[in-house]
Amino acid sequence: RLEIRNLRRQFDGVAVVDDVSLRVMPGQVTCLLGPSGCGKSTTLRMIAGVEMQDTGEIWVDGSLICDTVFRVPPERRAIGLMFQDFALFPHLSVAENVAFGLSGPREARRARVEELLGRVGLRRFIDAYPHSLSGGEQQRVALARALAPRPRIMLMDEPFSGLDNRLRDDIRDQTLEILKQEDAAVLLVTHEPDEAMRMADEIALMRAGRIVQQGAPYNIYNAPKDRDAVAFFSDIN
Ligand code: ATP
Ligand code: MG
Repeated sequence: RLEIRNLRRQFDGVAVVDDVSLRVMPGQVTCLLGPSGCGKSTTLRMIAGVEMQDTGEIWVDGSLICDTVFRVPPERRAIGLMFQDFALFPHLSVAENVAFGLSGPREARRARVEELLGRVGLRRFIDAYPHSLSGGEQQRVALARALAPRPRIMLMDEPFSGLDNRLRDDIRDQTLEILKQEDAAVLLVTHEPDEAMRMADEIALMRAGRIVQQGAPYNIYNAPKDRDAVAFFSDIN
């Protein structure tokens, strides 16, 4: 379970993330939706530990992992990342990519790699290199890599935006199923209303660093609170 409390970060005197609090339960997906520059990626980077908040707290499964004085380093946060520009390692095979965050006995690592590649339907590419895979296949390897160490939290920042429409729907559905099986708490950033409606258990609308509305997708869809939200959901087909 992920909990962030009163998270705040400013750059050059401007609050880019302004008192953001959220809670995501295991097996649940919360979508962070909002216009470009509203602070979505900054929020995720602070949770991942690659950006430091000015104030506020981050908790994972009831343990404090970061406040203003105490800070667990990123690699010990049990957080998986899938970012649009977070590419596979080109010089490592698919198996080596997926095994990257794993420790322990060789056989156990191999078994986990095979299990995850099986789940994303790419067992046959286990010894291939990333450049020989399609964009969608690379994305699925990235998912397998992120999930391999059994993270309690998954942070996804527009992970599907490089894919064409038809492929994207399939990969979204497949990704969602695997995330549910792994029982991770997922925070997903997207620009796309239909992606949020399809994947989210809860939607949080963000504007200029603040969460202005939060709730079940259909509640937000049926009663959007501001004009931007109305315009946003009117794009859904
Ligand atoms: P997008 O949808 O375009 O990805 P976003 O909601 O993810 O937008 P952020 O990347 O969180 O937006 O950025 C929010 C604001 O903070 C932007 O105005 C950005 O320029 C600013 N910002 C982010 N990081 C820094 C930094 N290191 N120094 C100065 N300004 C920053
Ligand atoms: Mg962003």
